[in-house]
Amino acid sequence: MRPLCQFCEGICGVMWFEFKNSFALKKIMQKDNKQGRIIADGDSCTEYSMVVCASCFYEGSYPLILSGDDFVKKTVIDVLNVE
Ligand SMILES: [Zn+2]
Repeated sequence: MRPLCQFCEGICGVMWFEFKNSFALKKIMQKDNKQGRIIADGDSCTEYSMVVCASCFYEGSYPLILSGDDFVKKTVIDVLNVE
């Protein structure tokens, strides 16, 4: 029910913060592609998510490339409502 914090590896409390994003990976085929077209590989969409507990979040213990606004606040109640 409650996720693990990816920073301190402790079980989150009643509240935690989640970052989620998906990246479509593109690759450039070198052979027979003299125009250098970018060919999107439809299946290579990677979903990346990260969970930090509330205390790590407030200490700023998340990657510097992310800001607090990139995270969504989640609570146990949110999870219960989904199920
Ligand atoms: Zn933590």
